[in-house]
Amino acid sequence: MIDKIDVLKRVQSLKNKIKELEASQERRKQDVQKKRDLIEEEKALAERKQEEKVAVQKDIDRKELDLKTNEGEITKYNVQLNSIKTNKEYSALITEIGSKKADMSILEDEILDTMSRLEIANQGLEKATENLKNEEQSLKDLINCVDAEVKETDAEIEKIKGEQNKYIDLLDEHSLNSYNRLSNIKGGKSIVPVVGNVCGGCSMNITTQTLNELMGSKDLVFCRSCSRILYLDENSD
Ligand SMILES: [Zn+2]
Repeated sequence: MIDKIDVLKRVQSLKNKIKELEASQERRKQDVQKKRDLIEEEKALAERKQEEKVAVQKDIDRKELDLKTNEGEITKYNVQLNSIKTNKEYSALITEIGSKKADMSILEDEILDTMSRLEIANQGLEKATENLKNEEQSLKDLINCVDAEVKETDAEIEKIKGEQNKYIDLLDEHSLNSYNRLSNIKGGKSIVPVVGNVCGGCSMNITTQTLNELMGSKDLVFCRSCSRILYLDENSD
């Protein structure tokens, strides 16, 4: 028959192991979530790049339409020139044609500028789309990997729980209740060694009486300061 305290130490160590495994599962799930968040950002960026491209293209279309309108008007004025009677009307129309031609020249320059903006916008969109595609593939790979890891860890946790239950079955009700109560409050450190007359949980000195209890009693001994379950660490002397 193993000592109560040894059983409790096993139960605690197995419980801590389970917690560690659960925490590592949680971290891996968070990795997936982080990747998903990143992809949402990449998606939003690609959408913005697409909108940018459409806006620049619209700008070009509008300017080209203006160019055509001016061209049409110049043709119309040129026809009117043939039927003009007075010099005054003639020179007014010539001025008007000159002004339209100047407008057209400005528009042509603007269209060239906007064309290079379109090229930059296209490159930006291509890059964002490529990035998004890569990230989506990498998310798929990550999910497959994490799913397999989580499955494996689940099996390991089940195994440890089974082992833990075997030890729990060895405990009397009082010991188990004391441990469970402490474990809820103190977490993974509810059974602690006494090292150099000091409690391994709260670092307070142990009274001589407590020390005597630890050496003589088969019952659980609790720290008077922090209430943790104490044991003498034979290896620490
Ligand atoms: Zn203590």
